Amino acid sequence: MTKALEKRIKELEETIETLEKDLIHDTLTGLKTRAFFEEEARIYFDIAVNSSQGDRGRRKQWFGFKNVSFLFVDVDHFKSVNDTYGHPSGDEVLKAVAETIKTSVREGDTAARWGGEEIAVTLVGATERDAFNKAEDIRKQIEGIRFGKIPGLAMTVSIGVASAEAGKTFEEILHRADEALYKAKQTGRNKVVAYSEMK
Ligand code: GH3
Ligand code: MG
Ligand code: MG
Repeated sequence: MTKALEKRIKELEETIETLEKDLIHDTLTGLKTRAFFEEEARIYFDIAVNSSQGDRGRRKQWFGFKNVSFLFVDVDHFKSVNDTYGHPSGDEVLKAVAETIKTSVREGDTAARWGGEEIAVTLVGATERDAFNKAEDIRKQIEGIRFGKIPGLAMTVSIGVASAEAGKTFEEILHRADEALYKAKQTGRNKVVAYSEMK
């Protein structure tokens, strides 16, 4: 093999490594990507849903969980941060929100950038009630964040919660989380809404 060819192969290997990393990690926030979230969350969903059809106890023993819940988190009035303080400040806010969520969830949970300023979270082993409590905890923490460079700025988030349920598809459950988020926005923002408690 010529030296030039060796060099080219090495370059391509590095490119593949970077592409693989980018496929999984969002560069701005360090959260997982939506593509990764969707693949992984679907697997957790299938396990949880199957576990409610068969022997739940045994499934729990095998996989360590029988419930899975999802959060859709959206920053309130985020556009006004960009408009008032500029896009780089918006990025800082987004990073702080992402960091808060990442450090609030458990080791096996996943927080991903769903798009723009919306973050999706998988909570493994969490019932809807557990997920609601976790979401409330996240909401309060974010409300308390202060930004050194922008004194006086306080951000809030709205969160929709839904849990896996037998007889429903993965897409239907994510849609429920999105509907719950929409309801949280409609009813005042800085709020958590669980799908099953939507009226
Ligand atoms: P709402 O309370 O209804 O969610 O209002 P909002 O202003 O947060 O919602 P809207 O969807 O109107 O605005 C989202 C904004 O997020 C618009 C878009 O320019 C901005 N945005 C999306 N991605 C990024 C990013 O990576 N960095 C920054 N700084 N802004 C982003
Ligand atoms: Mg928003
Ligand atoms: Mg949004």
